[in-house]
Amino acid sequence: MKIERRKTRAVEIGNLKIGNGNLIAVQTMTKCDSRDFTKLKTEVLKLQKCGAEILRIAIPDFSAAENFAKVCKISKIPLVADIHFSGDLALFCAENGAAKIRINPGNFPREFLKKLVKICKKNSVAIRVGANSGSLKFQNGKTFAEKLANSVLQNCEFLTHENFDQIVVAAKSSDILTNFAANEILAKKCDFPIHIGITESGFGENGIVKSAAGISPILKNGIGDTVRISLSDDSEKEIEIARAILQNLKLRKFSREFISCPTCGRTEINLKKVAREVFAATKNLNPNLKIAVMGCVVNGPGEAATADFALVGGKKFFAIYARGKFVKKVDEKNAVAEFLKICEK
Ligand code: SF4
Repeated sequence: MKIERRKTRAVEIGNLKIGNGNLIAVQTMTKCDSRDFTKLKTEVLKLQKCGAEILRIAIPDFSAAENFAKVCKISKIPLVADIHFSGDLALFCAENGAAKIRINPGNFPREFLKKLVKICKKNSVAIRVGANSGSLKFQNGKTFAEKLANSVLQNCEFLTHENFDQIVVAAKSSDILTNFAANEILAKKCDFPIHIGITESGFGENGIVKSAAGISPILKNGIGDTVRISLSDDSEKEIEIARAILQNLKLRKFSREFISCPTCGRTEINLKKVAREVFAATKNLNPNLKIAVMGCVVNGPGEAATADFALVGGKKFFAIYARGKFVKKVDEKNAVAEFLKICEK
């Protein structure tokens, strides 16, 4: 089964195209103080190496904006200036290397929009109109989701009236049902690419589960052209989780598929240890492979039949399967090394 994606206009974010059937891009934000150039440069380079495809940077003042302009010159991935309250900062960043300007309809001074459009057109810069539940200002609509979506659509109307169409929209809430409803409205009422995410989803397992539970049904409905996971955690984690969600929904392929059984009273090998080791050691294998580590013969051979390579546990031993065929039996302690030799071959 394949998810059918919503049709949108194409928008260019620097050297990356989104919307109109292009791959869903993984986005994150830098979290260091953008006024510290060394830290900003280091974080930008680190995150692009970790798999960020679009990177947003908070621009609280002109010293951050100047640093933003400098890192734009060295970044290989498109950088987005995240602007609140100040029209001047948006204009500066649009003139100085931004691939996209993110404005918040709840706090961006409207009198600057016309000027911003002019500069963005001249420099081929996209604009993301992104509303958040925490900074909603316009109150047009019955439900909170409607108010959130309408605040975005009002700004879009102004931009399109100015003949500007390089627009990305986003309506994020920390409540996943509101978030879902707001995205459905945006998808119905405009054809711009949509940036999705659950805002302020917290940290640790709770934040990851909330993000996955919130984003997956939106993606399943074909909505979403860029994704950001908002965790009170490192940005690398946000990238890892965004990738995992997209891969599990078969919308992107980043690494090999991995399955392992939950273990039960039938397990007679240390499956948790072996599964962890195999998981770590196979991360960089061909992304098209499927690897399975199973505890016993109940579901083991069945899963092995659909996997490229599988380990199936017995009593203190594992059976290795390749492309569904039994290869050999190995002692539990040599299982990982023997298995990897076969996978890598
Ligand atoms: Fe239990 Fe076997 Fe299923 Fe693993 S595969 S959970 S060991 S029955």
